[in-house]
Amino acid sequence: MGLFGGRKTVFVDADILVIGGGMAGCGATYEARHWGRDLKIVCVEKANIERSGAVAQGLYAINCYMGMQWDENQPEDHVRYARNDLMGLVREDLGYDIARHVDGTVHKFEEWGLPIMKDPKTGRYQREGKWQIMIHGESYKPIVAEAARKAATEVYNRIMVTHLLMDKSKANRVAGAVGFNVRTGDYHVFRAKAVIIGAGGASHIFKPRSVGEGMGRTWYAPWSSGSAYALPIQVGAKMMQMENRIVLARFKDGYGPVGAYFLHLKTYTQNGYGDEYESKWKEHTRALVGDYIDHHPTPTCLRNHAFLQEVAAGRGPIRMVTKEAFQDPHKETVGWENFLGMTIGQAVVWASQNIDPKHINPELTTSEPYVMGSHATCSGAWASGPEDCAPADYQWGYNRMMTVDGLFGAGDTIGGSAHKFSSGAFTEGRIAAKAAVKYVMEKGRDQPEVSEKEYRDLEKVIYQPLENYRVGRNEIVAGTVSPSYLLPIHGLQRLEKIMDEYVGGISSNYMTNGKLLERGLELLTMLKEDMNSMGAEDLHQLQRTWELNHRILASESVTHHTLFRQETRWPGYYYRGDHVKLDDENWHCFTLSRYDRHSGKWAMEKAPVHHIID
Ligand SMILES: Cc1cc2nc3c(=O)[nH]c(=O)nc-3n(C[C@H](O)[C@H](O)[C@H](O)COP(=O)(O)OP(=O)(O)OC[C@H]3O[C@@H](n4cnc5c(N)ncnc54)[C@H](O)[C@@H]3O)c2cc1C
Repeated sequence: MGLFGGRKTVFVDADILVIGGGMAGCGATYEARHWGRDLKIVCVEKANIERSGAVAQGLYAINCYMGMQWDENQPEDHVRYARNDLMGLVREDLGYDIARHVDGTVHKFEEWGLPIMKDPKTGRYQREGKWQIMIHGESYKPIVAEAARKAATEVYNRIMVTHLLMDKSKANRVAGAVGFNVRTGDYHVFRAKAVIIGAGGASHIFKPRSVGEGMGRTWYAPWSSGSAYALPIQVGAKMMQMENRIVLARFKDGYGPVGAYFLHLKTYTQNGYGDEYESKWKEHTRALVGDYIDHHPTPTCLRNHAFLQEVAAGRGPIRMVTKEAFQDPHKETVGWENFLGMTIGQAVVWASQNIDPKHINPELTTSEPYVMGSHATCSGAWASGPEDCAPADYQWGYNRMMTVDGLFGAGDTIGGSAHKFSSGAFTEGRIAAKAAVKYVMEKGRDQPEVSEKEYRDLEKVIYQPLENYRVGRNEIVAGTVSPSYLLPIHGLQRLEKIMDEYVGGISSNYMTNGKLLERGLELLTMLKEDMNSMGAEDLHQLQRTWELNHRILASESVTHHTLFRQETRWPGYYYRGDHVKLDDENWHCFTLSRYDRHSGKWAMEKAPVHHIID
């Protein structure tokens, strides 16, 4: 904080405010400049866009590329693929919209300097799988960030956005956002005509497998704190399919990805006794989900289901058979480079545990659940679709606009469009920005106005944890336990425990039921009450406090959705013990929620799933 604890209020006016400078945020910032040459485009990021978000460490593959220039795949094929993997429930209009534009995005990445591997025989991009192309992607994020930096009027790094601001006169129209600088403590008030949220998914809402010495390590980025959901939820935006959390089979203890291993190195899994196991669970799975088990490729959740059943039957650990592939020196190199370019921690874990995959088949495990809209699941905000192909039910204005006027989203933020990954998230940012520019232009002089009372009231709430700590600290002479405040780490561990035990985390083997979910909601309500007693020692802890607030709201949403959907749609991601089967007759639909911040109540409803691709 500034000299003598004083803090400035910094006012920023923008035509378009992009919250979160990850893949989607960079895409939005870049594209907003293209369509809005004279507009003021501001990007605000809690870290530094140079190395922020889930791609911070780099990636080894771009997982969404059609290859239309070589007639490899068409957008319709990708919609069918995502629909199949999500057991039928995707917004096909949104997925199609991304798929038809994603190749152009990837070509731009290459133009900006991203090295994409080429097949020496065909000259085409080197495929890792049907949808994935291989890259030397350690610097993927800085390359993408450069484009956003050059396009933006201003980039504000190190600002944690905590709340959106609403228009003084129109209750359902966004007018900006507030947050604080995590280094100086300055209070930032952003006034904007349109806001695009690209603030990533949510990790650390369920208790992670890595605790104790491994604490903090997760598969999804540990800094993905659910702001993408909490910010719109707070202002009453409808959310969709928040129950659709993801559980991933990954290399044990380092959460190293398996995609390149399965697809490119052609490794495969077996149980602790060296046997193939997936096929053994086919009939058992059919009894739960019917013929979804015969679909090709097998939906990810059902593969997880076989994994979990095999371990529960006492035949673990599940191992990845690497010993054969690693005899080929080229494959061995690819196997290691895969981690060195994106998950160095896995290589370190193997080294520390004497695992050389040439001689030992490494163990896999299933992760704790995460919530996100861009990977193999699609929780997120309910958004208006593209004018030319979205059914009437899915259209109420501008493309990717949420149910709040002027509020747009992309990437993990937007629900219903799974399998967009890094390239699709950037593409969706571009789509959202184009629509947001149109929105701003068409509104003309009709601009939102922020209320001074609103942002001053929020200022008090935002900084209160520093005050709670300053006063409460006097009551104790040592240690961290105080009778009058709770530290963010305590709150986080309590949240993770509630979600783990009541909402289907690892310790219950992903099992929950109506009774557990109801109790989980009661405990979450108590935790929310206690958030008024948070104590933050410094600005870093203040950021942790607000991240926790966002995680709690996202978790509450997940719990309500899980309670509402009375079936087990995605065995392997979670199970409703009281509704163990998939029920297409009653639940081939989306679940939607709306939070009322004044009453604290959640309203749930169903929305139809329209299939627009055969
Ligand atoms: C381990 C892992 C492996 C992956 N592998 C691949 C792969 O191989 N290929 C592929 O194509 N994709 C991969 N993905 C998926 C890809 O990374 C995501 O789809 C993509 O990053 C999502 O983009 P996003 O913009 O929604 O979120 P992010 O890129 O995560 O960006 C979110 C941004 O918002 C910022 N932010 C969050 N909260 C706030 C706040 N309150 N205020 C201000 N800023 C905030 C964050 O700091 C971050 O910069 C992988 C993801 C992970 C985690």
